[in-house]
Amino acid sequence: MTHQTSSNTYFKLHVLASGSKGNASIVERADTGEGIVIDCGICKRDFFVRCEEVGFDVYRIKAILITHEHSDHTKGLGVVLRGLAKLGVSPLLMTHPAIVGASTQLDEVISKNLCTYMPIEPQRLYEVSDICLHVFATSHDAVASLGFRFMCGDDALGFITDTGVVLPEAHNALLGVRILALESNHDIDMLEKSEYPYNLKMRVQSNRGHLSNDQAAVELSQLLHAGLEQVVAMHVSQNNNTYRLPVETLQRVLSQADHPACVRVAYQDRVVSVS
Ligand SMILES: [Zn+2]
Ligand SMILES: [Zn+2]
Repeated sequence: MTHQTSSNTYFKLHVLASGSKGNASIVERADTGEGIVIDCGICKRDFFVRCEEVGFDVYRIKAILITHEHSDHTKGLGVVLRGLAKLGVSPLLMTHPAIVGASTQLDEVISKNLCTYMPIEPQRLYEVSDICLHVFATSHDAVASLGFRFMCGDDALGFITDTGVVLPEAHNALLGVRILALESNHDIDMLEKSEYPYNLKMRVQSNRGHLSNDQAAVELSQLLHAGLEQVVAMHVSQNNNTYRLPVETLQRVLSQADHPACVRVAYQDRVVSVS
Protein backbone atom coordinates (compact mmCIF):
# COMPACT_ATOMS: atom_id res chain seq x y z
CA MET A 1 0.00 0.00 0.00
CA THR A 2 1.49 3.35 -0.98
CA HIS A 3 0.48 6.69 0.44
CA GLN A 4 1.68 9.80 -1.30
CA THR A 5 2.47 12.85 0.79
CA SER A 6 0.60 14.89 -1.84
CA SER A 7 -2.76 13.28 -0.91
CA ASN A 8 -5.33 15.38 0.92
CA THR A 9 -5.39 15.21 4.68
CA TYR A 10 -8.70 15.47 6.49
CA PHE A 11 -8.25 14.30 10.05
CA LYS A 12 -7.35 16.01 13.27
CA LEU A 13 -7.22 14.08 16.53
CA HIS A 14 -7.90 15.86 19.80
CA VAL A 15 -7.24 13.83 22.92
CA LEU A 16 -9.14 15.55 25.72
CA ALA A 17 -8.09 13.01 28.35
CA SER A 18 -6.40 9.62 28.29
CA GLY A 19 -5.64 7.21 31.13
CA SER A 20 -7.32 5.09 33.78
CA LYS A 21 -9.04 8.08 35.41
CA GLY A 22 -10.98 9.07 32.30
CA ASN A 23 -10.91 9.02 28.50
CA ALA A 24 -12.31 11.17 25.73
CA SER A 25 -11.01 11.96 22.25
CA ILE A 26 -12.40 13.61 19.14
CA VAL A 27 -11.71 12.80 15.52
CA GLU A 28 -12.43 15.99 13.58
CA ARG A 29 -12.75 16.46 9.85
CA ALA A 30 -10.67 19.56 9.28
CA ASP A 31 -12.61 20.62 6.17
CA THR A 32 -16.08 20.57 7.75
CA GLY A 33 -15.28 20.88 11.46
CA GLU A 34 -17.55 17.89 12.12
CA GLY A 35 -16.41 15.47 14.75
CA ILE A 36 -16.82 12.02 16.21
CA VAL A 37 -16.21 11.63 19.92
CA ILE A 38 -14.52 8.45 21.14
CA ASP A 39 -15.46 7.58 24.74
CA CYS A 40 -16.87 9.88 27.36
CA GLY A 41 -15.23 9.17 30.70
CA ILE A 42 -14.67 12.77 31.86
CA CYS A 43 -16.96 15.22 33.62
CA LYS A 44 -19.14 17.69 31.76
CA ARG A 45 -17.04 20.70 32.72
CA ASP A 46 -13.77 19.12 31.55
CA PHE A 47 -15.42 17.95 28.34
CA PHE A 48 -16.72 21.39 27.34
CA VAL A 49 -13.68 23.35 28.56
CA ARG A 50 -11.27 21.03 26.76
CA CYS A 51 -13.27 21.11 23.50
CA GLU A 52 -12.93 24.87 23.60
CA GLU A 53 -9.22 24.61 24.38
CA VAL A 54 -8.59 22.53 21.25
CA GLY A 55 -10.83 24.74 19.13
CA PHE A 56 -13.49 22.13 18.49
CA ASP A 57 -17.09 23.33 18.12
CA VAL A 58 -19.37 21.02 20.16
CA TYR A 59 -22.31 21.91 17.88
CA ARG A 60 -20.49 19.81 15.26
CA ILE A 61 -20.51 16.55 17.21
CA LYS A 62 -22.14 13.98 14.95
CA ALA A 63 -21.55 10.78 16.88
CA ILE A 64 -20.13 9.34 20.07
CA LEU A 65 -18.37 5.98 19.87
CA ILE A 66 -17.91 3.92 23.02
CA THR A 67 -15.01 1.44 23.02
CA HIS A 68 -16.22 -0.60 26.04
CA GLU A 69 -18.23 -0.34 29.23
CA HIS A 70 -15.48 0.40 31.79
CA SER A 71 -16.28 3.55 33.76
CA ASP A 72 -13.14 5.43 32.68
CA HIS A 73 -14.73 5.40 29.19
CA THR A 74 -18.40 5.93 30.04
CA LYS A 75 -18.87 7.77 33.33
CA GLY A 76 -19.35 11.24 31.81
CA LEU A 77 -21.72 10.20 29.05
CA GLY A 78 -24.99 11.11 30.79
CA VAL A 79 -23.93 14.57 31.92
CA VAL A 80 -22.23 15.40 28.62
CA LEU A 81 -25.27 14.29 26.59
CA ARG A 82 -27.55 16.34 28.85
CA GLY A 83 -25.27 19.35 28.29
CA LEU A 84 -25.38 18.78 24.53
CA ALA A 85 -29.18 18.34 24.59
CA LYS A 86 -29.49 21.84 26.10
CA LEU A 87 -27.66 23.11 23.01
CA GLY A 88 -29.95 21.15 20.73
CA VAL A 89 -27.22 18.66 19.86
CA SER A 90 -28.29 15.02 19.79
CA PRO A 91 -25.51 12.83 18.39
CA LEU A 92 -25.59 9.22 17.31
CA LEU A 93 -24.39 6.86 20.02
CA MET A 94 -22.49 4.05 18.34
CA THR A 95 -21.41 1.01 20.28
CA HIS A 96 -21.79 -2.74 20.56
CA PRO A 97 -25.14 -3.97 21.98
CA ALA A 98 -23.37 -6.05 24.66
CA ILE A 99 -21.67 -2.85 25.92
CA VAL A 100 -25.07 -1.17 26.27
CA GLY A 101 -26.31 -4.19 28.22
CA ALA A 102 -23.36 -3.97 30.59
CA SER A 103 -23.54 -0.23 31.30
CA THR A 104 -26.26 1.55 33.29
CA GLN A 105 -24.86 4.84 31.90
CA LEU A 106 -25.46 3.78 28.30
CA ASP A 107 -28.76 2.12 29.01
CA GLU A 108 -30.02 5.27 30.70
CA VAL A 109 -29.03 7.76 27.98
CA ILE A 110 -30.65 5.58 25.33
CA SER A 111 -33.88 5.06 27.27
CA LYS A 112 -34.07 8.82 27.96
CA ASN A 113 -33.61 9.59 24.26
CA LEU A 114 -30.57 11.80 24.81
CA CYS A 115 -29.07 10.32 21.63
CA THR A 116 -29.94 8.06 18.74
CA TYR A 117 -28.51 4.63 19.36
CA MET A 118 -26.85 2.82 16.48
CA PRO A 119 -25.53 -0.66 17.25
CA ILE A 120 -22.16 -1.49 15.70
CA GLU A 121 -20.09 -4.65 15.46
CA PRO A 122 -16.50 -5.56 14.67
CA GLN A 123 -15.44 -6.33 11.11
CA ARG A 124 -18.07 -3.99 9.71
CA LEU A 125 -17.93 -0.64 7.91
CA TYR A 126 -20.19 2.32 8.72
CA GLU A 127 -20.54 5.84 7.43
CA VAL A 128 -20.86 8.95 9.60
CA SER A 129 -20.50 12.51 8.29
CA ASP A 130 -18.85 11.24 5.12
CA ILE A 131 -16.27 9.44 7.21
CA CYS A 132 -15.96 5.72 6.62
CA LEU A 133 -15.62 3.92 9.94
CA HIS A 134 -14.11 0.46 10.18
CA VAL A 135 -14.82 -1.17 13.56
CA PHE A 136 -12.56 -3.92 14.87
CA ALA A 137 -12.34 -5.97 18.06
CA THR A 138 -9.74 -5.34 20.74
CA SER A 139 -8.72 -7.86 23.42
CA HIS A 140 -9.82 -6.60 26.83
CA ASP A 141 -11.64 -7.78 29.94
CA ALA A 142 -14.93 -6.18 28.93
CA VAL A 143 -18.12 -7.75 27.52
CA ALA A 144 -17.08 -6.40 24.13
CA SER A 145 -14.33 -3.96 23.19
CA LEU A 146 -13.72 -2.01 20.03
CA GLY A 147 -11.08 -0.10 18.12
CA PHE A 148 -11.55 2.08 15.06
CA ARG A 149 -10.13 3.06 11.71
CA PHE A 150 -11.46 6.29 10.19
CA MET A 151 -11.12 6.90 6.46
CA CYS A 152 -11.80 9.91 4.29
CA GLY A 153 -10.40 10.16 0.76
CA ASP A 154 -6.81 8.89 1.04
CA ASP A 155 -6.54 9.89 4.68
CA ALA A 156 -6.79 7.36 7.52
CA LEU A 157 -6.59 7.46 11.30
CA GLY A 158 -6.29 4.41 13.57
CA PHE A 159 -7.34 4.30 17.22
CA ILE A 160 -6.63 1.45 19.63
CA THR A 161 -6.59 1.48 23.43
CA ASP A 162 -7.51 -0.98 26.19
CA THR A 163 -6.18 -4.09 24.52
CA GLY A 164 -3.92 -6.78 25.98
CA VAL A 165 -2.67 -7.79 22.55
CA VAL A 166 -3.22 -6.45 19.05
CA LEU A 167 -5.40 -9.05 17.34
CA PRO A 168 -4.67 -9.80 13.65
CA GLU A 169 -7.88 -8.06 12.52
CA ALA A 170 -6.94 -4.97 14.53
CA HIS A 171 -3.43 -4.97 13.08
CA ASN A 172 -4.83 -5.20 9.56
CA ALA A 173 -7.21 -2.33 10.23
CA LEU A 174 -4.34 -0.14 11.44
CA LEU A 175 -2.16 -0.65 8.36
CA GLY A 176 -1.48 2.43 6.26
CA VAL A 177 -2.87 5.07 8.63
CA ARG A 178 -1.47 8.62 8.70
CA ILE A 179 -2.36 9.26 12.35
CA LEU A 180 -2.01 6.40 14.84
CA ALA A 181 -3.36 6.56 18.39
CA LEU A 182 -1.81 3.51 20.07
CA GLU A 183 -2.08 2.37 23.67
CA SER A 184 1.25 2.39 25.53
CA ASN A 185 -0.05 1.75 29.03
CA HIS A 186 2.75 0.53 31.24
CA ASP A 187 6.40 -0.20 31.66
CA ILE A 188 6.77 -3.89 32.56
CA ASP A 189 9.48 -3.28 35.21
CA MET A 190 7.55 -0.49 36.87
CA LEU A 191 4.41 -2.66 36.94
CA GLU A 192 6.28 -5.61 38.44
CA LYS A 193 7.85 -3.45 41.15
CA SER A 194 4.62 -1.57 41.87
CA GLU A 195 2.39 -1.79 44.94
CA TYR A 196 -0.41 -3.24 42.81
CA PRO A 197 -1.87 -6.46 44.22
CA TYR A 198 -0.81 -9.61 42.38
CA ASN A 199 -4.20 -10.06 40.70
CA LEU A 200 -4.21 -6.56 39.31
CA LYS A 201 -0.65 -6.91 37.99
CA MET A 202 -1.72 -10.11 36.23
CA ARG A 203 -4.85 -8.43 34.87
CA VAL A 204 -2.94 -5.49 33.38
CA GLN A 205 -0.31 -7.77 31.76
CA SER A 206 -2.75 -10.37 30.49
CA ASN A 207 -3.92 -10.80 26.91
CA ARG A 208 -7.12 -9.03 27.97
CA GLY A 209 -5.43 -6.17 29.83
CA HIS A 210 -3.41 -3.28 28.44
CA LEU A 211 -0.54 -2.90 25.96
CA SER A 212 2.87 -2.24 27.48
CA ASN A 213 5.37 0.23 26.05
CA ASP A 214 7.33 -2.69 24.57
CA GLN A 215 4.24 -4.22 22.98
CA ALA A 216 3.34 -0.83 21.51
CA ALA A 217 6.86 -0.57 20.09
CA VAL A 218 6.58 -3.98 18.39
CA GLU A 219 3.22 -3.04 16.94
CA LEU A 220 4.51 0.32 15.71
CA SER A 221 7.50 -1.38 14.04
CA GLN A 222 5.03 -3.52 12.08
CA LEU A 223 2.92 -0.52 11.05
CA LEU A 224 5.68 1.69 9.67
CA HIS A 225 5.04 2.98 6.16
CA ALA A 226 5.93 6.14 4.30
CA GLY A 227 2.57 7.82 4.94
CA LEU A 228 2.65 7.54 8.76
CA GLU A 229 3.01 11.05 10.18
CA GLN A 230 1.75 11.14 13.78
CA VAL A 231 1.88 8.61 16.58
CA VAL A 232 0.13 9.32 19.87
CA ALA A 233 0.87 7.12 22.90
CA MET A 234 -2.46 6.54 24.67
CA HIS A 235 -3.86 5.40 28.03
CA VAL A 236 -0.52 5.90 29.79
CA SER A 237 -0.62 4.67 33.40
CA GLN A 238 0.14 7.28 36.03
CA ASN A 239 1.37 4.55 38.40
CA ASN A 240 3.32 2.16 36.19
CA ASN A 241 4.70 4.43 33.51
CA THR A 242 5.95 7.96 32.98
CA TYR A 243 4.90 10.33 30.23
CA ARG A 244 8.47 10.24 28.89
CA LEU A 245 8.99 6.46 28.58
CA PRO A 246 6.39 5.71 25.86
CA VAL A 247 7.72 8.58 23.75
CA GLU A 248 11.32 7.36 24.10
CA THR A 249 10.35 3.75 23.40
CA LEU A 250 8.30 4.56 20.30
CA GLN A 251 10.78 7.16 19.10
CA ARG A 252 13.50 4.49 19.20
CA VAL A 253 11.47 2.39 16.72
CA LEU A 254 11.20 5.36 14.37
CA SER A 255 14.87 6.33 14.72
CA GLN A 256 16.04 2.79 13.98
CA ALA A 257 14.01 2.84 10.77
CA ASP A 258 15.05 6.42 10.02
CA HIS A 259 11.35 7.30 9.91
CA PRO A 260 10.32 10.98 10.20
CA ALA A 261 6.96 10.50 11.98
CA CYS A 262 6.34 12.51 15.13
CA VAL A 263 5.59 10.83 18.48
CA ARG A 264 3.49 12.50 21.17
CA VAL A 265 2.03 11.33 24.43
CA ALA A 266 -1.59 11.84 25.50
CA TYR A 267 -2.15 13.04 29.07
CA GLN A 268 -4.75 12.50 31.74
CA ASP A 269 -5.12 16.17 32.62
CA ARG A 270 -3.97 18.05 29.53
CA VAL A 271 -5.22 18.13 25.94
CA VAL A 272 -3.15 17.09 22.92
CA SER A 273 -4.07 17.74 19.28
CA VAL A 274 -2.42 16.39 16.16
CA SER A 275 -3.29 16.94 12.52
ZN1 LIG B 1 -9.50 2.30 30.06
ZN1 LIG C 1 -10.89 -0.84 30.11
